[in-house]
Amino acid sequence: MARRPHRRRIPKPKGNKPKSTRSKAAIDPEVPCQVPKCKEFADTELGGRSIAYDNAIDVWDNIPEGPRRVKICRTHYKEWKKSKKDDETEWS
Ligand SMILES: [Zn+2]
Repeated sequence: MARRPHRRRIPKPKGNKPKSTRSKAAIDPEVPCQVPKCKEFADTELGGRSIAYDNAIDVWDNIPEGPRRVKICRTHYKEWKKSKKDDETEWS
């Protein structure tokens, strides 16, 4: 008769609900970045921003026309900010 190995009971943590950590994977991105050819998402949870259309076309001239605000992903927001700065230094 083979003895079954005694299973160790792992005590469950009491009242310690795992915090709902909103990792990137948990976010369901639904706002696409409006910069042409960009496949990122512009959800605010992901660091996306919306900027004025007029500002956007200063940097990317082929932004599809639409609402007055353009949703851009974090990467493009950085890019936009950077090019804005470059502009300013050039002009002054
Ligand atoms: Zn983008």
